Amino acid sequence: MTHPLLAELAAQLPASALVTDPEKLAPRLVDERRKLHGSTLAMALPGSTEEAALIVQRCVAHGVPIVPQAGNTGLVGGATPMGDKVLLMACDRLNQVRQVDAEGYTMTVEAGCTLDEIRATAAEANRLFPLWLGSSTSARVGGLIGTNAGGLQVLRYGNMRDLVLGVEAVLADGHIYRGLHNLRKRNVGYDIAQLMIGAEGTLGFITAASLRLLPSEQGRATAMVALPDAAAALGLFTHAKAEVGEVLTAFEYIGKAALEVMTAQHGEVPQPFTPLPNCAVLIALSGSQPDNILEDRLTQLLMTASCEDAVLAQDGSQTEALWALRELIPSAQRRAGPSIKQDLALPIGAIPAFIEEAAQLVAARLPEATPVVFGHMGDGNLHYNLGLAQDADVANCEAISNEVLFDLVAKYGGDISAEHGIGRFRVAAADDRHHPVARELMRKIKASLDPQGLFNPGVLI
Ligand SMILES: Cc1cc2nc3c(=O)[nH]c(=O)nc-3n(C[C@H](O)[C@H](O)[C@H](O)COP(=O)(O)OP(=O)(O)OC[C@H]3O[C@@H](n4cnc5c(N)ncnc54)[C@H](O)[C@@H]3O)c2cc1C
Repeated sequence: MTHPLLAELAAQLPASALVTDPEKLAPRLVDERRKLHGSTLAMALPGSTEEAALIVQRCVAHGVPIVPQAGNTGLVGGATPMGDKVLLMACDRLNQVRQVDAEGYTMTVEAGCTLDEIRATAAEANRLFPLWLGSSTSARVGGLIGTNAGGLQVLRYGNMRDLVLGVEAVLADGHIYRGLHNLRKRNVGYDIAQLMIGAEGTLGFITAASLRLLPSEQGRATAMVALPDAAAALGLFTHAKAEVGEVLTAFEYIGKAALEVMTAQHGEVPQPFTPLPNCAVLIALSGSQPDNILEDRLTQLLMTASCEDAVLAQDGSQTEALWALRELIPSAQRRAGPSIKQDLALPIGAIPAFIEEAAQLVAARLPEATPVVFGHMGDGNLHYNLGLAQDADVANCEAISNEVLFDLVAKYGGDISAEHGIGRFRVAAADDRHHPVARELMRKIKASLDPQGLFNPGVLI
């Protein structure tokens, strides 16, 4: 028998706003990492804020939990509905750019716009929306805000938290919070938008956001540098911050095992160094100066640094090839076999010592695992992944990896996630390792905004 909620929604919404066809639902029920295989009552696709409010109001009336989903590229299982009494609520039809204010350097976009779409819209207005991730074709505004996404240019421009001015959202009581604005300065008490950013769909359904824009970049210079170890990479970072800090846009670390897995699985991407170095760093400068000036500055920087070798991209296709070497590491690891993903936050200065100590601990506790280490070093964000054998007991290895690495990040003053979030996969770790007062505060905020616990149960807290 059809659930009464579905009958009501079908009567009050256009046909395109409700999906129950199992074939159409199937891809929405599996998470990006293929770890969760969920189920749902149906998928609701509001086409306006008012439709979203109606859907939430009917869910409140029937006590049906809601799982918000955007591009479904999240890496911690936060967007997968886990039960046929749960409604999946997706953003696909909320896909309008509502306003671009080029003079004010802001734009207002709906939650279903993809990152590529909003970057292209900003570029048409000769502006830059600087967030940039490997998932930019699929990740949507609702999810980017829900996860407080980071990515490849946080070093220069910040993460989503730094780029959102205001949000519009449907709250758990069905009311619409109308918090869109394009004010740079606004000091009026609690910042509700900041509360929603990184809330992983637990406090409401975001329908639109006003975003900061920046001046378009006029030039870019990109290089890959071969280095003997992570300490040398840290030295280069310190030098780069001092010399070209105001145009330093990316500083990405790639350990030798990551270069090796790329060579094995993505041989089509050229490796600039033979033999492979112990580690490489991808450096990008960008800004209001033209390419040739930035290239000169980068060359100068590298000449005064102690690098083993370096290549400077000579054109757009070489730039893309260097970035592919960094961006395709997760794909190469997936091709290579089972693996464990980590997203560790560390003080930047602690990264070399952390890498050394982690290697020893992993060798002792998980001798079969290969640390594949890479990440946004300039942001103190290390993806300390482990490659496993085909027949490995992944769950057991993951439990050991979490114990070893989370203890070690705590020792160095770091944290268990830098950009992916807590989702479903790290709730237990957050409960174990975060201060009880911090966890309790989160529960109190959740209880006050969503007393029935309807939004994304089991995620974050
Ligand atoms: C190849 C690849 C590269 C990646 N690189 C990076 C990277 O460099 N940095 C980084 O930070 N992440 C990265 N990610 C992870 C992922 O792309 C980001 O977490 C992204 O922000 C998720 O966006 P999404 O639209 O796919 O959200 P989803 O996965 O659909 O959802 C993510 C979370 O947001 C919530 N949510 C979704 N829509 C709404 C809404 N409308 N209202 C309220 N909550 C909502 C969901 O409930 C869920 O908890 C990468 C992923 C892939 C596959």
